[in-house]
Amino acid sequence: MSLSEATDSLKVASLKGVGAKTLERLGKLNLHKVHDLLFHLPSRYENRTALMPLGSVRPGDQALVEGQVELTEVIARARRSLVCRISDGTGFLYLRFFHFSGDQLSRLKPGARLRCFGEAREGYYGTEMVHPDYQHIADEDAGNVDQSLTPVYPSTEGLHQKTLRSLVERALDLCLENSGILHEWIPEEQLSALGFPTLFDSVRLLHQPPAGAAAELLGQAQQRLAFEELLAHHLSVSRFRNHMRQQAAPVLRLPDPVSKQFLDSLPFALTGAQNRVIQEIATDLAAAKPMMRLVQGDVGSGKTVVAAWAALAALSSDSQVAFMAPTELLAEQHYRSFSHWLEPLGVQVAYLAGKHKGQIRRETLEAIADGRAGAVLGTHALFQEEVKFHRLGLVIIDEQHRFGVHQRLALREKGVRDGQYPHQLIMTATPIPRTLAMLGYADLDVSVIDELPPGRNPVKTSVIPSTRRSEVIGRIDDWVKGRRQVYWVCTLIEESEVLEREAAENTAIALAGALPKVRIGLVHGRMKPVEKEEVMDSFKSGSVDLLVATTVIEVGMDVPNAGLMVIENPERLGLAQLHQLRGRVGRGPGDSFCVLMYQPPLTPGAKERLGILRETSDGFVIAEKDLELRGPGELLGIRQTGQVQFRVADLARDGELLDQVKATAEILLDSHPDAVEPLLKRWLADGVRYAEV
Ligand code: ADP
Ligand code: MG
Repeated sequence: MSLSEATDSLKVASLKGVGAKTLERLGKLNLHKVHDLLFHLPSRYENRTALMPLGSVRPGDQALVEGQVELTEVIARARRSLVCRISDGTGFLYLRFFHFSGDQLSRLKPGARLRCFGEAREGYYGTEMVHPDYQHIADEDAGNVDQSLTPVYPSTEGLHQKTLRSLVERALDLCLENSGILHEWIPEEQLSALGFPTLFDSVRLLHQPPAGAAAELLGQAQQRLAFEELLAHHLSVSRFRNHMRQQAAPVLRLPDPVSKQFLDSLPFALTGAQNRVIQEIATDLAAAKPMMRLVQGDVGSGKTVVAAWAALAALSSDSQVAFMAPTELLAEQHYRSFSHWLEPLGVQVAYLAGKHKGQIRRETLEAIADGRAGAVLGTHALFQEEVKFHRLGLVIIDEQHRFGVHQRLALREKGVRDGQYPHQLIMTATPIPRTLAMLGYADLDVSVIDELPPGRNPVKTSVIPSTRRSEVIGRIDDWVKGRRQVYWVCTLIEESEVLEREAAENTAIALAGALPKVRIGLVHGRMKPVEKEEVMDSFKSGSVDLLVATTVIEVGMDVPNAGLMVIENPERLGLAQLHQLRGRVGRGPGDSFCVLMYQPPLTPGAKERLGILRETSDGFVIAEKDLELRGPGELLGIRQTGQVQFRVADLARDGELLDQVKATAEILLDSHPDAVEPLLKRWLADGVRYAEV
């Protein structure tokens, strides 16, 4: 074991003075190793480097002061408190404590010298500080203040700032004794080309910035850390990608006559973009290496039929296909499309539904296991242990952002057979900003369907307050008289399906009262799948005019005659989600409308966000803004898995570093492979690493 390995794994428990309690609290902050502690950066700093004369302290000032105790009293008026007056010759200041110990009281004797830090306010007797941070100091230390700013760390209950500060100090001392901790893994050449300070210097600066340190300097130090963190993530993905490139996969080809037969059976001609993407997929599938392709296409761009083509290629080459969708509703819909398209070509399509139990389920599992079922559709239930494929050659995942990176990889592992990996096709309507693409999706090649089928018009979006509700309801009436259908989407801020259901139910009742001639259906996440299906089918067939729904309809619903959507409380949703919802309309001929009906007053931020939707239907622009406004977790689908989290890096802030990160990663992989593993160990928690390759 090399020195650096040994020290990078040094535990916080090895620091002097860390007992069981402290260890537990540090654990809550995910601080297990010494370098975790060093990467736990202050959220802000307090300036305790200069004393303020007492005479000049004004209410509202945050100040470091020093003085001698003149008198101390316990006052019982209103609320019992300890009041202590200190003076420094320029004026007085009162210190007030509502909680205090006998020991504290007895030490605040007249003549005692104190140094206090706190915020001054107007008190009963004059300017005072309530519960200041204070310490007794010896006369000879008077005026001898800190040289560096005081860090304030994110903490947890029971873990005091003082404890964190002194632990970090000890950790920094340890680095000086032992250069193995925070060892510099980025070669000097690269470091100076990038203009970055060393890791150690950056860390020390961030924990102990000198008085007057420029914000720019601190920013640079933070970037230095973010850079290394992003580098570690990038290395992890690149290494995984390189590993996968060396694996074997079955060769899948779709014979021209079958392809033609399939395409001729469709009621439409493919768009140029669909054709191009199919070619890209065909090339991948015909190579004996696993395809790892992401197909990105805005809502309604026609990804499903592209997936069906790929599925047919696998099926024609004696392989099975697994198609995973994020919800039962969507899986069912794909099941119907696939059955409709593929069964005439002699393919057995199976649906592994959550609702199927007993006999049906057993039979489906058998058909999957013995290979009779060629295409298998389902939700993440397809991962389950009991699902065994006979010869899985292609895995298709729809709406990837709903799944974690790790779920995706797990399904790939599931299909490994005789050393061959299945090909993987991922489809998403959420355009992935370039910054994210380079990390969470860097193991994928990307195809873009950048063209909508002909005859689609952009959805006209308006943003109006709920005070104009009756006007909106009137518009629905007109709309339905024109024989077109409407969605009404109810949203709630809390992730509570129960509350959301109530809101939808109440809305449906109210709308039924206001629109007696309109046939109203209701669908929400708490309904049984059969009930949901029934309502959706009625809406599809046109026997329901107005569908009141929760956000369950977000993905996949495809009813071209529905051209008006009202979204209640859109200010509560993210932009990408709203864009998805809005994508349910604008699927047929004629104009389509989306009414974003907010609850006034709107915050300036919400106003800006809704304005973006009104102005653009470009999914890329929307996704970039979403990232900027909400952070990457949501988009990457890591909310659910709660795993990939950056400690220091912030993609919205540090995204511009990614080109350099990529270049540096290549240099390390080529010329300094020894640095890779230690960097991954340092930055990536065990569960986050792409794969042990
Ligand atoms: P998404 O990319 O959002 O998943 P879908 O695959 O659900 O889109 O396609 C939306 C609708 O457009 C479906 O009804 C589909 O049959 C239809 N569609 C797909 N491709 C074309 C095309 N080239 N021309 C006309 N309609 C198409
Ligand atoms: Mg789709």
